[in-house]
Amino acid sequence: MSRRKKLYEGKAKILYEGPEPGTLVQYFKDDATAFNAQKKAILSGKGVLNNRISEYIMIALERINIPTHFIKRINMREQLIKKVEIVPLEVICRNVAAGSICKMFGLEEGKPLPRSIIEFCYKEDKLNDPLVCEEHILAFGWATANEVDEMTAMALRINDFLCGMFAAIGIRLVDFKIEFGRHTDKNGNIELLLADEISPDSCRLWDLETDKKLDKDRFRRDLGDVTEAYTEVATRLGILKANPTTSPTLSIVPNGDK
Ligand code: UDP
Repeated sequence: MSRRKKLYEGKAKILYEGPEPGTLVQYFKDDATAFNAQKKAILSGKGVLNNRISEYIMIALERINIPTHFIKRINMREQLIKKVEIVPLEVICRNVAAGSICKMFGLEEGKPLPRSIIEFCYKEDKLNDPLVCEEHILAFGWATANEVDEMTAMALRINDFLCGMFAAIGIRLVDFKIEFGRHTDKNGNIELLLADEISPDSCRLWDLETDKKLDKDRFRRDLGDVTEAYTEVATRLGILKANPTTSPTLSIVPNGDK
């Protein structure tokens, strides 16, 4: 896809101009970053796995009427998506205490939260994506009150669905981050869509029996076997054939064969 015009390069993905107006091509890189890109590595095959896992989840969410930016997967590393204006907020949903919430409130990692908690962070690397409340969001015009309500409701529905989906394959959904974008349709109507990706880069996924981490914390905390863990998630979802001896790029189950 190098012939297409590059519009934006992020830490783990690149966006290219799409084949039709209103579309973009999202390319998944193998780059891994943590702690606001202070820690970096190339994890061979990660982009391929995240492309497939995110595709699987976006299709599943569309089936329960969550509107997403996903149109179709193009190849191993690219998907065609609807062009959106990204809302500058990271929406985090938590079921179990881990990561920043433990530091903030002195909680023990692994403690189930009394209820699912939705947080908003302002997407600004220079500021380390600070946690914000609705007052900040409305005062600074990052989203409207309606959009905040819609994002909250969608995040909770996504959480309910994904908790069940992962529980069925022996995985606890500890927390995850999602992003939303505003899409303008042909008639000029603006719709809020789930955008970006949902993958082990943006979720905390623990094995239900052993609490083994199957997500980006393996990279953040130097636990090793990062791509192996992502491969495990893809295998349990039925995206990869259960054959640990073949490389992820070779053993991917073709669409419609799962
Ligand atoms: N997360 C993410 N991108 C970010 C920040 C967080 O995908 O820039 C995800 C992270 O993987 C975890 C959840 O959001 O699943 C909650 O992250 P947390 O606030 O605990 O931050 P962390 O401890 O990762 O710094």
